[in-house]
Amino acid sequence: MEDTMTSTDKPTPTPTPTQHRFMAAIADNGGVSANAMHLVGGRRLIRGCESNGWVAEEPKEGGHPGQIQHRLLAAGYQALGREMPAGHLGVRLITITCQDFMCYARATTVVAWKPLGSAGLNKAFCQTHADNWREVVANHLPKTAPIAEGTQTFVADGEGTQVGTCRHCGHYIYLYFSVAGREGNWWRESQWDETGRCGDAEQRTGGWMVWHEPATTVEDRDAALAATVCGRSEQHAMGDCRPAGQAAAGPAAT
Ligand SMILES: [Zn+2]
Ligand SMILES: [Zn+2]
Ligand SMILES: [Zn+2]
Repeated sequence: MEDTMTSTDKPTPTPTPTQHRFMAAIADNGGVSANAMHLVGGRRLIRGCESNGWVAEEPKEGGHPGQIQHRLLAAGYQALGREMPAGHLGVRLITITCQDFMCYARATTVVAWKPLGSAGLNKAFCQTHADNWREVVANHLPKTAPIAEGTQTFVADGEGTQVGTCRHCGHYIYLYFSVAGREGNWWRESQWDETGRCGDAEQRTGGWMVWHEPATTVEDRDAALAATVCGRSEQHAMGDCRPAGQAAAGPAAT
């Protein structure tokens, strides 16, 4: 049994009594909520459970478009103190932990700032610590953006660009700071990619339009990496696997 249920090594916090009741109801229901909103009566509690990697929102199987359900994840069973039933997928969400000292919460906000006379910097925080940090760096033009589902790290240039892995093609994809808060899917394979279309996936589907979208679980990411068209299974940018001249997208974002 793995002891690390999220992508970090920090321990998971303890559920509140209401969170416990919510997750127990899902567990009793076979691991998937029949009607999460009815169970809990509001979004806040659900978000708390989601941000800890205990439950994930997903499209409702057999439901009408836009209808959602909640699935209890491996970390959720662990937080409940229950064994995960045999046959349940041990889903592990891709998450980033708050970079504040001793905070174990999932990071939801990236703060980017620019110290005088030096390059930009960025850090990922939970909401509380993002607010704190904005005050700490208030004199250095702090800006914030939400961290997207599937973000696993940031480009090291301090600009706050989020990095995920496309669940269709297995390549690094990027969510640039200036578009991170916008509605819709803004993941791109490089800064020269204007459409976000996933060419490898479109070849496979024989012409259906497919867009790069991030894997949000470790399992989906690993499956995509094991099935890249280029044949490389270690993580890399689209620009690093095509012969020069053939790459429509130019070099990868640095
Ligand atoms: Zn925090
Ligand atoms: Zn892709
Ligand atoms: Zn490749």
